[in-house]
Amino acid sequence: MEQALSKMQEYNQRVKKLLPGGVHYNFNLPWEETPIHFVKAKKSRVWDMNGKEYLDLYARFGAFIVGHGNEEYNESLKETIDRVLSVSHFDLDAEALELIAQFIPSAEMIRFGLSGTEIVQNALRLARAYTGKNRFVRFIGHYHGNADNIMGGKPVNKEEPVPSDYKGDLKGTEGRAKDILENQSYLIPWNDDQVLEDLLIRKGDEIAAVIMEPVCVNGGSVMPAPEYLKKVRSLCDQYQVVLIFDEIITGFRMGIGGAQKEFGVTPDLTTLGKAIAGGGVPVSALAGKKEIMQLLVDKKVVHAGTFNGYPLGTAAVKSTLEMLSRNQGEAIVKMNKRATDIYQIMKAEADKVGLPLTIQGPCGCAAYHCTNKELENPSQYSFDIMSLDIILNTNLAKNGILVSSISRLYPNISLDQEDVDWFRSHVKQALEETKELY
Ligand code: PLP
Repeated sequence: MEQALSKMQEYNQRVKKLLPGGVHYNFNLPWEETPIHFVKAKKSRVWDMNGKEYLDLYARFGAFIVGHGNEEYNESLKETIDRVLSVSHFDLDAEALELIAQFIPSAEMIRFGLSGTEIVQNALRLARAYTGKNRFVRFIGHYHGNADNIMGGKPVNKEEPVPSDYKGDLKGTEGRAKDILENQSYLIPWNDDQVLEDLLIRKGDEIAAVIMEPVCVNGGSVMPAPEYLKKVRSLCDQYQVVLIFDEIITGFRMGIGGAQKEFGVTPDLTTLGKAIAGGGVPVSALAGKKEIMQLLVDKKVVHAGTFNGYPLGTAAVKSTLEMLSRNQGEAIVKMNKRATDIYQIMKAEADKVGLPLTIQGPCGCAAYHCTNKELENPSQYSFDIMSLDIILNTNLAKNGILVSSISRLYPNISLDQEDVDWFRSHVKQALEETKELY
């Protein structure tokens, strides 16, 4: 006998007729094989069309740091809608920009954009204009947006293993302009300053920029090796290369000053996005040294965008950064405390069921991996580990816990003890189901 379709299954059939794959992106969140459509959200919980409740550690790919239904945040958006919805320059610009400059060490000047993808491209353009050189260096396992010149490709050293054949790979794509990767960038292993130095010795006069996630969250939330960032900083100085930290995830999640504050290494340019505006509306930002940003003042470099600096976005930045910074960053400290509880529970329960599990990376943007050994380099993120991580991700969703792409855990500032208890009572089943396949 045929089973009746649930409300959401019926909805999926309808939406898939027009929406490719039933989703708005190709990030292959495993629980979106059959997309979940949401109808309601409160604090850290979301409800789907069938009435099922989830703990939301997906947080819109890490953007949503303020928690659902955050009154202070929502009020600031409502006030802006009522007052001035659409102008190019707005009376909250100064406050929002001053907050960013106060917390992000490299932010001597700042421009707003909308997406991380576009702001990364603007950073590269500025670096090329500033140095008069053409190429940039990027690293295996790092992600910098949905643009032809920066996704996937072959490393300079072809022997280097690249985890590009797994199901969730979002870094390679067909249809890009021919030779664009080879002509624009060098792809090398991260966390190995010797490889970078060798490349700069050979090609330093062609290289305008080095771009990296200072913690490689997209490659499994891998921390930089001790002193690595400092070494890269000094190599960039030596070879007149612009150092770009892509802090679109780590900015405001790894503490309010991002990874650059934590590690005491100041890049020349920083790209910010996601949590900068709380996660309810899109804002990205390019922050950097005055001397480089001066090219925008002088109009030598174009930075364009119809909606750049739109009032709702600016109000959201101001509200988010005020909340995150209040009382010496109390909100982030509390968020990290709850997140730590959750990670400890996950590890302890995994041990009980005998599933190998490591949780690594900064509290605000950690990742779990189904292995006993912490990844020290994104290149170690093997197909086998990733496959299990994806299965666990799916099982977590089945059991009421949503996590982000592959294995990422994104807490928000509304997490409370009830959420920690919910996690404890729902995670075990997901771990057991994954262990059965191990
Ligand atoms: N840079 C990093 C480190 C990211 O994680 C992302 C998105 O996940 C981007 C850039 C691209 O940002 P967006 O998706 O807003 O274009």
